[in-house]
Amino acid sequence: MRTTTGWHVEGAASPLRRGRVERRDLRPDDIAVRIDYCGVCHTDLHARRGHAGTTPLVPGHEFTGVVTEVGPDVTAFAVGDPVAVGNIVDSCGECAMCRAGQENFCRAFPTLTYGGTDRHDGSTTLGGYSREYVVREAFAYPLPPGLDPAAAAPLLCAGVTVWEPLRALGVGPDTRVAVAGLGGLGHLAVKLAVALGATTSVISRSPDKEADARRLGARGVVVSSDPARLEAARDSFDVVIDTIAAPHDRGPYLRLVAMDGTLCSLGDLGPVTVETMDLLVGRKKLSSAGSGGRPATAEMLRFCAQAGVAADVEVLPSARVNEAFDRLARGDVRYRFVLDLSDLD
Ligand SMILES: [Zn+2]
Ligand SMILES: [Zn+2]
Repeated sequence: MRTTTGWHVEGAASPLRRGRVERRDLRPDDIAVRIDYCGVCHTDLHARRGHAGTTPLVPGHEFTGVVTEVGPDVTAFAVGDPVAVGNIVDSCGECAMCRAGQENFCRAFPTLTYGGTDRHDGSTTLGGYSREYVVREAFAYPLPPGLDPAAAAPLLCAGVTVWEPLRALGVGPDTRVAVAGLGGLGHLAVKLAVALGATTSVISRSPDKEADARRLGARGVVVSSDPARLEAARDSFDVVIDTIAAPHDRGPYLRLVAMDGTLCSLGDLGPVTVETMDLLVGRKKLSSAGSGGRPATAEMLRFCAQAGVAADVEVLPSARVNEAFDRLARGDVRYRFVLDLSDLD
């Protein structure tokens, strides 16, 4: 075992506490990563809320850093390489999903970056709110030059979660896209859809998102609290990306989808009730997605470097992680907190 320092969840309502984090010794195909930046994801808040205290919990599953050590069988990385790691760190490698490059849907369930179970020694994985991580090289990605390492960190969870459906739905210059919810996921969905060439709009309850939407590259806002504007936008988007995190009626959003178009629901993963008529009229589809496979993650990073897309971030020293949690819970962030972990040295 080797040790590093990180931020532990102590209980559902307690502040995170700085402490020792154990990492495994490198296996032949492992790399050690010095973590420089780790994004703060909604999942991290949920994990704290659900923490029973039976196993240690260190959140964090979208991070960037530098390779500090490589196992003897590692071929893709050398010491000193900039690297990025997302929310899955292993999978069975044999099922149909893994063979198709969709390790995120592994039938044997992928190993999560934190709160997961290591496939070799059965230990609980501890996440990226720490100064070092040890990971199989297959689940680490070269961070392309030109991407700011702090602004790139959120691409590894929020980014790829919106990238896979945008690509799977064929979003490009002929596509009309609308994004509901302008948070961590939503602002990246807007930027990526715009960079793919789509005509992109934002759906928001309040008209005061207009300036932000335009700054992100959208052409405007559909104000969902205004029935007249909703009616005017009926059947007008090929793809609606719904990133709203709370339970909500999908009906109004389905009615904005054009014929044969798709509502992709990414933010709220609870049960959904829909009127079949909202699907029937216009042959509309309801879908979802989450995280990304290895090929799509690597493709997204290359695309973002080329297109100059990264998250809008507020970088905080990791010692202010509790402030980040409190403000994220209130929705007070534009649009992603990223922890700078250099204060753990
Ligand atoms: Zn996440
Ligand atoms: Zn698998």
